[in-house]
Amino acid sequence: MFDIKNIYEPNTIDEALEILYRENSKIIAGGTDILISLQHGKFSEVTLLSLRNIQELKNIVKLENGNIEIGAMASFTDIFRSEEINNNIPVLAEAAVSMGGPQIRNMATIGGNVCNGAVSADSATTLFNLNSKLLIKSKEKERLVSIKEFYLGPGKVNIDSNEVLVKIIINKKDYENYYGNYIKFSNRKAMDIAMLGVSVLGSIKEGKFNDLRISLGVAAPVPIRCIEAENYARGLKITMENIDKISEMALLNAKPRNSWRGSRDFRIHLIKELTKRGILKVIERAGGNIYE
Ligand SMILES: Cc1cc2nc3c(=O)[nH]c(=O)nc-3n(C[C@H](O)[C@H](O)[C@H](O)COP(=O)(O)OP(=O)(O)OC[C@H]3O[C@@H](n4cnc5c(N)ncnc54)[C@H](O)[C@@H]3O)c2cc1C
Repeated sequence: MFDIKNIYEPNTIDEALEILYRENSKIIAGGTDILISLQHGKFSEVTLLSLRNIQELKNIVKLENGNIEIGAMASFTDIFRSEEINNNIPVLAEAAVSMGGPQIRNMATIGGNVCNGAVSADSATTLFNLNSKLLIKSKEKERLVSIKEFYLGPGKVNIDSNEVLVKIIINKKDYENYYGNYIKFSNRKAMDIAMLGVSVLGSIKEGKFNDLRISLGVAAPVPIRCIEAENYARGLKITMENIDKISEMALLNAKPRNSWRGSRDFRIHLIKELTKRGILKVIERAGGNIYE
């Protein structure tokens, strides 16, 4: 059923990087995407490199400086159960628990979710709002890439075959005093890929939007930030009229398409409506008011 030539199971990152350096092999994390590709015959006689035994890739830690680091092999269950995530970035736990079903969440990793490059990835939009950085290593070098620069196109990401995504880094300044909401719209409540995903992250001050970040999944070839709407919102008084206008402006950066999951027109409707609901939820969570 699976055309696998060999599988390596190193215990350390260095061992994994050495194997990737000397032998053409494909990384397997939770396997929930790659095993499907294998079953569909996308690879033949593949050598797999499993990251499952590398404990340090599973850590979720808050550093002394307040930055949060999420190991690439942290599963979605690890994330939505993590005290650090729930205490500091609950919107990421909200996104994590929306993905798949319990079995998939137990196996699927956040590293696999972003490295797979799907525009529907449930972690991606929230990671975009958090200005996340990805630490990527090969035997010869390491580099830090912003999540925005990581997504190159549908299924295409900025990582070479000899590189490993080690961890995702979220700076304190990008989550502290922010409140968030992730809304996934799909045809079924569970085990379904998003027809549209909207993540909103915001901080409010003295009745105004201090900073508002809006990201969309499945609204363009890659996850996107709604920069025009975000710039318009900065410093704006929190009124229903302004919230409507910001939600409308979220469309300016979107390029939704027809697909069998949903039509372009329906996605346009969802972008406006779910952005509005997301903003309202963020205001509620921040303890803010809507003014006349
Ligand atoms: C039934 C089902 C339901 C699903 N539902 C959802 C859903 O609701 N939402 C959603 O977003 N996704 C969903 N998925 C897709 C999938 O589960 C996720 O994308 C998952 O996060 C992939 O993680 P993984 O660890 O299984 O990756 P894998 O399948 O192991 O790997 C995916 C890709 O990433 C590469 N890779 C993995 N880790 C690394 C690393 N550390 N460094 C470099 N490259 C790496 C692999 O080589 C491969 O190309 C679903 C899948 C199934 C089968």
